[in-house]
Amino acid sequence: MIIILKRNANPQKVEALKEDLTRRGFGLHLSDGTEASLIGLIGDTSSIQEDWLRALDVVEDVRRIREPYKKANRSMHPENTVIDICGQKIGGGNFQVIAGPCSIETEEQITEVARDVKRFGARFLRGGAFKPRTSPYAFQGLHEQGLDLLLRAKRATGLPVVTEIMSTEHLPLFDEVDVIQVGARNMQNFELLKELGKIDKPVLLKRGLANTLDELLMSAEYIMAGGNEKVILCERGIRTFETSTRNTLDISAVPMLKQKTHLPVIIDPSHAAGIRFMVEPLSLAAIAAGADGLMIEVHNNPEKALCDGAQSLTPQMFDTLMRKISRSVEFFQSLS
Ligand code: PEP
Ligand code: MN
Repeated sequence: MIIILKRNANPQKVEALKEDLTRRGFGLHLSDGTEASLIGLIGDTSSIQEDWLRALDVVEDVRRIREPYKKANRSMHPENTVIDICGQKIGGGNFQVIAGPCSIETEEQITEVARDVKRFGARFLRGGAFKPRTSPYAFQGLHEQGLDLLLRAKRATGLPVVTEIMSTEHLPLFDEVDVIQVGARNMQNFELLKELGKIDKPVLLKRGLANTLDELLMSAEYIMAGGNEKVILCERGIRTFETSTRNTLDISAVPMLKQKTHLPVIIDPSHAAGIRFMVEPLSLAAIAAGADGLMIEVHNNPEKALCDGAQSLTPQMFDTLMRKISRSVEFFQSLS
């Protein structure tokens, strides 16, 4: 971190700042130029609040040389992280597909979809029991009963399950869930992230609707700083001025995140597009960009779905897509 001092900075106040920084354990690298005087901080600056420095009378500006995230940073951990979930690996060349309905509706629905997606090659079952809906009058999910139905589908098929948590209060209900999803709307629910940092369970962290990649990585850092390093990142489309798709899939997030972090990165083409016909091209684009997996919404009767029917594939469409996905994964892996 570099602190740029004001030209007319009071020398006593600058001395006081240097002493304070030394007391905090930093080495100081001083540079008195004709244009500006700088203090370079040597040491781990991740705990330093830039706002504290900016508020000081003598400080003109503060620049970070290193990103404030450490545990998620690839420079601290050059190898790709591989997360093992019930024997299924994700990351580091292990590509996985998570599929299932937006929300769990009935036992028949979730079990039927689970059987179909398993048959067509998905290795994880998704389904929401706690649904973050824009309208308080929309279907909110079956809550505890939904989790129970999801676990029945897990027992019936052997597929590990991924489902969203919305509140720390519900954490005890998630004991048998294999991957806990933090949805886009909760990406910066820091109390929730801190609680998930204390458990030993993989977390699928979705990018917020209007969050930068660095903010996503800082949210991953919240979980990892607590001791839980099993974090999977998910790009699911962001808000832009474009209205013809539900969101805009930020495909460049994949190579950029892969450069910044060692964590697995997956794409959710369903919530990005909001329209069924775009799920296939976006899935294939994600593979080409280097994603470690996909999360795809599949419903046995999309027309009757209680949530996100327009973007849900039928099991037959999913079958066709999975054939293209496996050929694409093989092709792109053969190039590297
Ligand atoms: C979901 O995956 O069910 C979901 C609600 O997605 P997002 O948080 O990305 O909107
Ligand atoms: Mn959905």
